Amino acid sequence: MTERAYFDWNATAPLRGEARAAVLAALELTGNASSVHAEGRAARQTIEQARAQVATLVGAETKNVTFTSGATEANMLALTPALEAGFAKEPRDRLFVSAVEHPSVRSGGRFAADAVEVLPVDANGIVNLAALKAALAKAARPLVSVMLANNETGAIQPIASIAEIVHAANGLLHVDAVQGAGRIDCDMAALGADLLSLSSHKIGGPQGAGALVRRDGIHIAEPLIRGGGQERNLRAGTENVVAIAGFGAAAQAAFRARQADAVRMAGLRDQFEASLLAQTPAAFIFARDAARLPNTSLFAVPGLKAETAIISFDLNGIAVSSGAACSSGKVQISSVLTAMGVSADLARGAVRVSLGWDTTEADIDLLLTAWMRVVSSLLKSHANAA
Ligand code: PLP
Repeated sequence: MTERAYFDWNATAPLRGEARAAVLAALELTGNASSVHAEGRAARQTIEQARAQVATLVGAETKNVTFTSGATEANMLALTPALEAGFAKEPRDRLFVSAVEHPSVRSGGRFAADAVEVLPVDANGIVNLAALKAALAKAARPLVSVMLANNETGAIQPIASIAEIVHAANGLLHVDAVQGAGRIDCDMAALGADLLSLSSHKIGGPQGAGALVRRDGIHIAEPLIRGGGQERNLRAGTENVVAIAGFGAAAQAAFRARQADAVRMAGLRDQFEASLLAQTPAAFIFARDAARLPNTSLFAVPGLKAETAIISFDLNGIAVSSGAACSSGKVQISSVLTAMGVSADLARGAVRVSLGWDTTEADIDLLLTAWMRVVSSLLKSHANAA
């Protein structure tokens, strides 16, 4: 069997050992966390420990963490006109989202379609601050949603500067921190975020858990799911104790290892990109001039189609993806690259390599060997077809 190496960590990360242990321990629990008996209290304790672990990852107060089924749901919960901040009880009148957001944000959450406006980005996918300032003048109580780092390119947004502009305009800022958490600093106060979304399976926890974290004083007046009043009335339904326990353990492990992991991943990613450009000078690396996550590289070679490249990589033992993972398994032209002004031709060839905490130099060697095979055979068949 071909030796395999996994380079699709931005889609989902492998389960961390700490998360696996927490999941297995939680599977032994019997109680419903809402029950008052000892079994119920044990489940409650597991959830509250995870809540504290997740809060630490983003420097938040434990009580402000609401567990959800994932970041998609956290984004839906956050993006509502029914947000109250301190004495400001009136609904948010307009939602502004950057053009490179995940579809769960781009879709506008619970705002009416005509109350949602898309903010332009530059060639690296970074929000244009002047355009943001101008756009906010159109709203009395805006809500703005900008991601910490992009899932396709890894480009990091200047969130602290964005927060200053948003707050000066009487606005609130939601940050989708799914790809940044555990990879770069993600302290809510330093970022100036009022609301922040997280996903368990991007940091080494199990799939099916996530969280919306609020700054103190932010209140969501309209829950997404109503019922038994769990999660302080913000998210009804019996808690997924097993997934939440794994999420908490992963958050703690990610928080402890984040700096050392970032240095190591950046070294390997840079090594990969240098070799890629040496072997294939025509290769183009997206958002290379922006601050980027240490683990992400999105590139394309003119004439090479992502769909065929990914299949060819897979046959050579390498798991990569196109930037825009799509639930149907079909590769579409990335809306992120379109927003960055990339031509459809080049965007069609975008391949994303994303690394993680246990990626090794040997994995990078496998990736580069596979790349040589992929690129030579695909460009040859392209030339024959022409
Ligand atoms: N936001 C970003 C930036 C993502 O990359 C993803 C996952 O791909 C999500 C949100 C959705 O997360 P989840 O899978 O937990 O719903």
